[in-house]
Amino acid sequence: MQLKTNIAKRVYLFSDGNKEMVELLGGKGANLAEMSQLGLPVPNGFTITTEACTEYLEKQELSFELKEQIKEQVEVLEKLTRKKLNDLHHPLLVSVRSGARFSMPGMMDTVLNLGMNDKVVEGLAGMTDNVGFAYDCYRRFIQMFGDVVKGVDKNHFEAVLTQYKTQNEYREDSELTDKDWKEITHQFKQVYRSYLGEEFPQQPEEQLYGAVEAVFKSWNNSRAKLYRKMNGISDNLGTAVTIQEMVFGNTGDRSGTGVAFTRNPATGENGLFGEFLINAQGEDVVAGIRTPKEISELKNLMPDTYSQFVKIAEKLEKHYEDMQDIEFTIENGKLFILQTRNGKRTSKAAVAIVLDLAEEGVISKEEALMRLTPSMMDQLLHPSFLAAELAEHVPVLKGLPASPGSASGDVYFTAEAAKKAAESGAKTILLRNETSPEDIEGMIICEAIVTARGGMTSHAAVVARGMGTCCVVGCDQLVIDEQEKKAVIDGKDLKEGTTISVDGSTGKVYLGEITKDNQVAGSHALSKVIQWCKDLSNVRVKANAETAKEISASLELGGEGMGLVRTEHMFFGEERILEMRRMILAEDKQAKLKALAQLKKYQKEDFKTIFALAEGKPAIVRLLDPPLHEFLPTEKEVPSVAKELNILPKDLERLIKGLAENNPMLGHRGCRLAVTNPEIYEMQTEAIIEAAIEAEQETGIKMVPEIMIPLVSIEKELVVIKETLVRKIDTIFKRLNKQIPYLIGTMIETPRACLIADKIAEHVDFISFGTNDLTQLTYGFSRDDIGKFVQDYEQKEILATDPFQHIDVDGVGALLHEAIQKIKSTGKSVSIGICGEVGGDPESIRFLLNEGVDYFSCSPYRIPAALLTIAQQSIKKNS
Ligand code: PEP
Ligand code: MG
Repeated sequence: MQLKTNIAKRVYLFSDGNKEMVELLGGKGANLAEMSQLGLPVPNGFTITTEACTEYLEKQELSFELKEQIKEQVEVLEKLTRKKLNDLHHPLLVSVRSGARFSMPGMMDTVLNLGMNDKVVEGLAGMTDNVGFAYDCYRRFIQMFGDVVKGVDKNHFEAVLTQYKTQNEYREDSELTDKDWKEITHQFKQVYRSYLGEEFPQQPEEQLYGAVEAVFKSWNNSRAKLYRKMNGISDNLGTAVTIQEMVFGNTGDRSGTGVAFTRNPATGENGLFGEFLINAQGEDVVAGIRTPKEISELKNLMPDTYSQFVKIAEKLEKHYEDMQDIEFTIENGKLFILQTRNGKRTSKAAVAIVLDLAEEGVISKEEALMRLTPSMMDQLLHPSFLAAELAEHVPVLKGLPASPGSASGDVYFTAEAAKKAAESGAKTILLRNETSPEDIEGMIICEAIVTARGGMTSHAAVVARGMGTCCVVGCDQLVIDEQEKKAVIDGKDLKEGTTISVDGSTGKVYLGEITKDNQVAGSHALSKVIQWCKDLSNVRVKANAETAKEISASLELGGEGMGLVRTEHMFFGEERILEMRRMILAEDKQAKLKALAQLKKYQKEDFKTIFALAEGKPAIVRLLDPPLHEFLPTEKEVPSVAKELNILPKDLERLIKGLAENNPMLGHRGCRLAVTNPEIYEMQTEAIIEAAIEAEQETGIKMVPEIMIPLVSIEKELVVIKETLVRKIDTIFKRLNKQIPYLIGTMIETPRACLIADKIAEHVDFISFGTNDLTQLTYGFSRDDIGKFVQDYEQKEILATDPFQHIDVDGVGALLHEAIQKIKSTGKSVSIGICGEVGGDPESIRFLLNEGVDYFSCSPYRIPAALLTIAQQSIKKNS
């Protein structure tokens, strides 16, 4: 007795906990406690804390003190339920379930019907007057205990059941008689004995401690570890274990079990959405073994229970201020709630739900935005199939649209095969009867998941939605033969490796590949989120864009104009590259000027389109950046290009050789080109200014063109080029007798430029950090070749991540910090931006915001995620 008062509390009755105690009791334990405090029909129980789990994992044994506390709470539970473990007349049976701080659906283990033994089964049979039910419970327990606690593969048990059913020509479990279940239980015990060399344990205490240890250990099984890695959950948290009185959904036609969401987890639509199975137990719905009925059908079968459930669901959603995922069981017409948690949902649903909750006044706008994640914004922009192409295809399968998006790939029937094929570069689609947590590695790597069985809450559906992977479940026309590596659809074989296309939004599956539509679907909900984000911060996101399509997409997605128009991208059309080649290869000034005049026409046309589309929003045009030889023909192209240029192939070869460089990335590129060839930047400047003037005249909108000089590393370099530009602009203004305001800025892309950023700032109106080149030059890693070795660096943990994707805080970040401090020290108003790839990366944006960056520029489809990241940082700062 002395001991009990001296040790820390490791076990909490439901009446001792609440929803705030998630860290200690896990999500499930805390919510069960909360629900029982709310007076909801929750079976009695208690929770062993996550601390007890971490202690167990350290010592690898259950401490005496913990066992004592468990024993004590079992006694309380026995009193509360008026049942007893190992009692013949009023046997207490319990479930032993995992429940971590963060929900990890299906990743850890559960044992149901614990307490069952040779004696109790008879007692339960007598008490319920249902021998078949009692033995079904016992055989399930033997299987779960054997599998989870003792490591005997559950398939060994399943095989016995399947064989028994085949021998006796039974199709459904419901056809089995009392005698059959008794016999199967007997055979299950034999399986247990043959694999373990011992009898099935009859002592409930031994069963209980064994199950608790197994659930603790399941925290470290490989799928749980992988899930945590994918979701950024720490490995040190441990799982709680909830022990709860069993209620039975498998006692007959007045019983059942189900799962329901308070709103549709795929679309966010408000209203109960879920499924149930009559006469089934525990995980049957989630496991996808039988295809369940829609929750609305419960209304016809048990109207009172249904309306009680609807009320409870509403109460829970209001209480938790979020969409709930509720598990329930009905035992002989009586409803029990077994779990509630904030439901996993698609990105589309997540956005719709927070917008609705904010509009219903349940949560604030800020809270709504904080509940979204940048990756949800990316997922919202998942392309669907091209409508015209889709119309030409007839679906070969139709199932439930479990997770939206679209994908084409080659079919594989096991997770291992899909994984192997994907690793060797194939796009794969996983086709299964149903999935289980063991399939997780194949599910992560495939493009889409299709299952023959299961419903919208089956394992495949829940996991795919969480991952944002397209998924169709419950295709009952589909028969899969794993052994033969084929599926049969309406009598026709579908072999491993055949290409199919899956539409997760309609639940249809097609043969062959269908092209995706990369057009952004204008979504009202997305626009609203974008607007709310913008209302919360002055930091703007611009686009790295130059084509009309990219610009329109970026504006639709919340872009505030263009932060980087890469002009070299405009020289790649067939006609344009020819003029570019003429200009580069011209051997006299006149020929060069002629080619430049032609190029100016193209450029001006493009700039006019850009300025008109931008409608007065900023458009930063960067002058030519890459080395000139990039525009020259390859060896193979020499004869045809020589002909077009009207020169001899050998002369063309000589000229190409003359321009070749040993190290082009460090060579004659960026502003260095203009030091040698000022006429290129002069031509571009003329095109920009004339285009802006004409666009202003045509649209009536004021234009302020912004011109950006790349790759500066010496102050004088900038001064010389800027003078050239200003002189040119003055002559244009004089010639046209018209002036407009304009800005001249530069990129900081070299370490030296960072160190002299104050001197650079004196000459410009804005500075944009080109972190792609800056990272390349800081590490000395070629940005075009790092792909060959970055994985080795990550694998050997030399680099945590690819510095071209996520900013290198210690090196590139330190240089940026130094540069921004220097720019600010001038007291001059110079706007500071980022236009390298990290400008669209949420992790980098968080760091850069703290450094005082004024705007970000990234590819159009990354804008919503960037805007959300910025808004969330602003909310955090102000809270
Ligand atoms: C950069 O270097 O970060 C940049 C934006 O310019 P580019 O990628 O065109 O070199
Ligand atoms: Mg660059």
